[in-house]
Amino acid sequence: MGKHQAKLLAHERILILLRSAFQELDQDFELANEQAQLAKKIAKRLRLKLPYDIRQSYCKKCKLFICPGFNCRIRIGRSNIKAIRITCLSCNTVYRKLI
Ligand SMILES: [Zn+2]
Repeated sequence: MGKHQAKLLAHERILILLRSAFQELDQDFELANEQAQLAKKIAKRLRLKLPYDIRQSYCKKCKLFICPGFNCRIRIGRSNIKAIRITCLSCNTVYRKLI
């Protein structure tokens, strides 16, 4: 198998894992997090860049897979309306995201 083909396959696998992770979130968070972490690991190993909004789905500190309304809280910034504040409910880290 060529290197390019391997990358394409990995990319597909990552997308499947992430889709499944988002679906699994309500039912089984442990499993969802495992799938999301695995997706990230594959991406890292092959130096594939995950899409921006997917990268935002991981806590910057504890690396947990986080999802709004589930295990993170989102607030509109007071001073800057172009930024939202995300609080990871697992490690309580607050960080900003530009929108
Ligand atoms: Zn966290």
